[in-house]
Amino acid sequence: MSRIAYVNGRYVPHRDAVVHIEDRGYQFADGVYEVCEVARGNIVDMTRHLDRLGRSLGELSIAWPMTRGAMEHVLAEVVRRNRVRNGLVYLQVTRGVAPRDHFFPAKPVRPAMVVTSKRSDPVALNARAEKGIEVITVPENRWDRVDIKTVGLLPNVLAKQKAREAGAAEAWFVDPDGTVKEGGSTNAWIVTRDGVLVTRPAEHGILRGITRTTLFEVARKLGLRIEERGFTVDEAKSAREAFITAATVVVMPVVKIDGSAIANGHPGSIALSLRAAFFDVAEKRPA
Ligand code: PLP
Repeated sequence: MSRIAYVNGRYVPHRDAVVHIEDRGYQFADGVYEVCEVARGNIVDMTRHLDRLGRSLGELSIAWPMTRGAMEHVLAEVVRRNRVRNGLVYLQVTRGVAPRDHFFPAKPVRPAMVVTSKRSDPVALNARAEKGIEVITVPENRWDRVDIKTVGLLPNVLAKQKAREAGAAEAWFVDPDGTVKEGGSTNAWIVTRDGVLVTRPAEHGILRGITRTTLFEVARKLGLRIEERGFTVDEAKSAREAFITAATVVVMPVVKIDGSAIANGHPGSIALSLRAAFFDVAEKRPA
């Protein structure tokens, strides 16, 4: 079956889906995006993802390309047309198409919008979670507005590639004082010896992950305590467990940091129980 993409008002075959060469997303990374998990035919946490999209658009003074209701319809339609039961739906909005000039277009242009969806293999993802992943650490080198989910991801791309070349799956950005910020495309967590979940506050310096937000509710349901505070690489290495969260991986145990094993080197039971309970707690919107 051929894939279908939504591009500026039309549903087109994925291989024919194109945007203009003067789309400001292409030239300036002047745009924002969201990725929602699709699980068992449902779009997961769509309300929170669209709330965050609205915030990102607002921070960059980009207008909504359509009403929120219409956007929800397009997301569901792209998932349906691609017959995705488990996977992801990707939404990107840029400031639009205008002659190349750093200034915003003098005459406002219509924001450009693209939506794609692709399948993932839940069995393979669960198998990965049963094994856990390795992360490396890299110095923080991003701008200080990483709270906005922009398509300007070059530092993240380079950090993740470095991780891959080191045989790891994620890179954690670390501040000069040794505190962990977040991964290239995930939020970072540890579990202390006392079983307390620790994650860095999201007021600034990291993206407020939607999976992170929903995990607060999952933790409450499981009777687990969360502390929002910074933690260092050293603290993470001697933690009881470590894990990452994102719509792409939900909860994924971390078993090694910079080559040093966390606890016994196997996924922690708390991370796995959070992973198992996530879908029940998250919002599910049938596509
Ligand atoms: N941090 C960064 C830098 C990300 O790019 C992402 C997701 O893409 C996350 C955290 C996790 O966010 P979410 O849980 O909304 O997927």
